[in-house]
Amino acid sequence: MAKKKTDTTTIEPLKFSGAWDYAPAPESTGHIKLEKRYGHFIDGKFVEPLSKKYFATYSPSTEEKLADVADGNAADVDAAVKAARKAYNGEWGKMPAAERGKYIYRIARLMQERSRELAVIESMDGGKPIRESRDVDVPLACAHFFYYAGWADKLDYVSPGRKPKSLGVAGQIIPWNFPLLMAAWKIAPALAAGNTVVLKPAETTPLTALKLAEIIRDAGLPAGVVNIVTGAGATGAAIVNHPGVDKVAFTGSTDVGKIIQKAIAGTNKKLTLELGGKAANIIFEDAALDQAVEGIVNGIFFNQGHVCCAGSRLFVQESVADEVIRKLKDRMQTLVVGDPLDKNTDIGAINSKEQLATINKYLKIGVNEGAEIYQPKCSVPSKGYWCKPTLFLNASQSHRIVQEEIFGPVLAVQTFRTIDEVIEKANNTPYGLSAGVWTDKGSKIFKVTQKLRAGVVWANTYNKFDPTSPFGGYKESGFGREGGLHGLLPYLKFD
Ligand code: ADP
Repeated sequence: MAKKKTDTTTIEPLKFSGAWDYAPAPESTGHIKLEKRYGHFIDGKFVEPLSKKYFATYSPSTEEKLADVADGNAADVDAAVKAARKAYNGEWGKMPAAERGKYIYRIARLMQERSRELAVIESMDGGKPIRESRDVDVPLACAHFFYYAGWADKLDYVSPGRKPKSLGVAGQIIPWNFPLLMAAWKIAPALAAGNTVVLKPAETTPLTALKLAEIIRDAGLPAGVVNIVTGAGATGAAIVNHPGVDKVAFTGSTDVGKIIQKAIAGTNKKLTLELGGKAANIIFEDAALDQAVEGIVNGIFFNQGHVCCAGSRLFVQESVADEVIRKLKDRMQTLVVGDPLDKNTDIGAINSKEQLATINKYLKIGVNEGAEIYQPKCSVPSKGYWCKPTLFLNASQSHRIVQEEIFGPVLAVQTFRTIDEVIEKANNTPYGLSAGVWTDKGSKIFKVTQKLRAGVVWANTYNKFDPTSPFGGYKESGFGREGGLHGLLPYLKFD
């Protein structure tokens, strides 16, 4: 038989329409199993809310409803705190520390096994790119459980010579920007220190915390050791005000942090607050500029600027300002805004309609204040909540876009001439969570970092986290540290 000739005439030649037009590469969601309705996770099982109320959680990229979750009231919180107290006074409190460590380790392993599912749900419910949830959020969340598992039987070394004791029931309230990671930051050290937990995820991103509840159940953790109650601000307030809570750990806005601080004043409750930020990212003329530009992009645009430590104020030394801005604009032109589940996406969806309205309000404020706005010519999907990466050039210290936290992919740019000038400008904000310094000179790094009033300063990198390293702020960015040995201290008392 004559060999058939391959017909190549029907194959379309590749069209080169621009280096950055990738074919879609969406992560599959076929393996994701979500219940239609989630109750609270109390005393080791999912239970109907006593409030009898539910609310919906939506995907911010498709605006589709993902599930209904329980809307906790004071009675629900009371049931959770009572379950936590019973576990603290019972099996968990009496368990040898090494055994406690094994449970925490088991949670970490089960999270690893279900990491793909957790990453996809995080991107569906919160809008962040799958690249971030898959490569950053979930592995770091697992790493925190692994790290603190190791501390459980070594608490005597936290503060040598002093005998540590757990506190009791920890009430933990977390925001929507790193839903699973924040849950890990809070639950892992609390358990390692021997406490029990009542945790509330944010109302727009409850799903990965509820998946974590399934993992905790599957890990066989004694009932009541970790309880997860869903709801909005009122549910959080019920946790803060419950007399059976010994410690409150909160991550969220400075406004709510202040309400919480007032609410527990005069009680015996311990408190840690991780609040807002307005980080300065400082580029000196001797920096590796291409790397610095990548660090700027990573610091504010990836993750939609939904990071309390986002590098939202850029300070560039005058002599290289034009070059850095040109490179930055070029790089912004290549950023892909769109489907969070697509592996090519750099900037996903804004977490909620309300947050998008806040960001848009600040875009107007910036223009009205006289700063020059720049956005690349990228397209955004018609459905969902989106914001193009935005620069405000010629911003000044008094502008609200420079002083106030926007929590979106919006970068205010200023220039400087001397080290003293930039230190003064960088510190001139009510916040003090983080900062970045880019320079070729080690001595300059030490000089600047010593004078910056920020809890974390990254040098020639940005937004890098490790479970062994403490994180937390100064001034209106809060107090107390999470991560590392320091992260255990708020969950312990000493004789
Ligand atoms: P954001 O502005 O980042 O949404 P919020 O501070 O409003 O931050 O929310 C962070 C977390 O605090 C969420 O879980 C939210 O439900 C909770 N929360 C909001 N108001 C209160 C309150 N008055 N008391 C306790 N928790 C609250």
